[in-house]
Amino acid sequence: MQNYVSALMQDVKAKNPSEPEFHQAVKEVADSLVLVMERHPEYRSAKVLERMIEPERVIMFRVPWMDDNGGVQVNRGFRIEMNSAIGPYKGGLRFHPSVNLGILKFLAFEQVFKNSLTTLPLGGGKGGSDFNPKGRSDGELMRFCQSFMSELSRHIGPNTDVPAGDIGVGGREIGYLFGQYKRLANEFTGVLTGKGQNWGGSRIRPEATGYGAVYFASEMLATRKDDLTGKRCLVSGSGNVAQYAVEKLVELGARVISLSDSSGFIIDEEGFNAEKLHFIMDLKNVRRGRIHEYVEKFTDASYVEADASLDHNPLWKREAECAFPCATQNEINAQDAGNMLKGGVQVVCEGANMPVTPDGASVLLKSGILYGPGKAANAGGVAVSGLEMAQNSMRYGWTRDEVDQRLQMIMADIHRSCVDAAERFGTPGNYVNGANIAGFLKVADSMLDQGLV
Ligand code: NDP
Repeated sequence: MQNYVSALMQDVKAKNPSEPEFHQAVKEVADSLVLVMERHPEYRSAKVLERMIEPERVIMFRVPWMDDNGGVQVNRGFRIEMNSAIGPYKGGLRFHPSVNLGILKFLAFEQVFKNSLTTLPLGGGKGGSDFNPKGRSDGELMRFCQSFMSELSRHIGPNTDVPAGDIGVGGREIGYLFGQYKRLANEFTGVLTGKGQNWGGSRIRPEATGYGAVYFASEMLATRKDDLTGKRCLVSGSGNVAQYAVEKLVELGARVISLSDSSGFIIDEEGFNAEKLHFIMDLKNVRRGRIHEYVEKFTDASYVEADASLDHNPLWKREAECAFPCATQNEINAQDAGNMLKGGVQVVCEGANMPVTPDGASVLLKSGILYGPGKAANAGGVAVSGLEMAQNSMRYGWTRDEVDQRLQMIMADIHRSCVDAAERFGTPGNYVNGANIAGFLKVADSMLDQGLV
């Protein structure tokens, strides 16, 4: 069966050159599915995985806009409509200079499995642009978003494709994108999620990914009759996912000592509290500052600048029991993973998508610690996006408690599916296999039901 994986990977690399992140995401899934393919030759003969690797549609477009100096700027926009076997395409938009076709294909591919795990009827997609929002004025951002949506609007719709936010796309950007869609389509409809609460957004959507990751970590710990109370936690990133992961961890009595951005990380040994978190949210979301400014206000904390010449990130050398990587892909390599284990980490719960390299993941898997992959652990965001779609269809909004309870139930369901699938296919405790297998089976069976489309 290993021959099947190597032949598949050879083909993927030949057909999708220069897309290392996409190769990495496919390889991880293919390795997990070896046991499934052995037991179920029907998936192989129907070439289900081969079809899942090929996006149903890729849209790539020019995004011209004018900066504040009257200069013309040109960016590239993308939407990958990966798989609609179980529902309309669903997945975020990322605005970051590193965005390219391969990165969005990896994210769209992962999204298919993640959305399947949520128990909701959501297909998988992803999109974005190489536009860098950092340092741009509000006016520039709005003009960029309007130009981006002028093209994207032709391809999306509440029953076709429903984008949301991701890196660089938060409530402000969703607002500009929604406004332009509404104007072009001449209808008020749930075509984006992560909307403001006054105009169709769900309660708890901003919090959902971070909260969900913490709920998933609690579920993992419960299998060892443990919980988060008093646990020292490392969190990376300082954006949407990181902020709400910290909020929920603090609420549950954990001691969170770190946050980061691409310039460096801060350590606050005392742990964050509500006041400190309020400062961070204001700094990052309103003043749009950098994380190092935290140590100017809270002088007992320290700041360590990122050093690209190192082969490891010193953040992951800090002693802690739990780690929540919430920044970006491949932020933890094998050395970082080893350092974490030496520092006492027993739980790694991925708020970000694919934050651990394949070598890093194999170190974590071999160690037997609790390792929750992003597909499962950060699915709370898209789950509440699915709930936002349901509320929009009903023209009704649930209370904060109602949405939070549903989120907790969904995270518990996802956890159970991962545990069951890992056990059924002979790798108990392996959440990576569990998530890939459980996510795959639902989509694969739906594809078989629907014929060759
Ligand atoms: P934000 O844009 O709100 O925050 C991203 C954070 O990660 C920032 O602190 C940013 O620092 C840091 N970061 C981004 N790129 C890099 C990089 N190349 N190197 C180091 N740090 C980096 O994004 P989100 O919080 O929404 O997303 C974070 C992760 O979570 C991503 O992997 C995303 O795909 C994933 N995710 C997000 C969901 C959501 O609902 N938002 C849902 C599921 C997963 P800086 O400001 O310096 O760039």
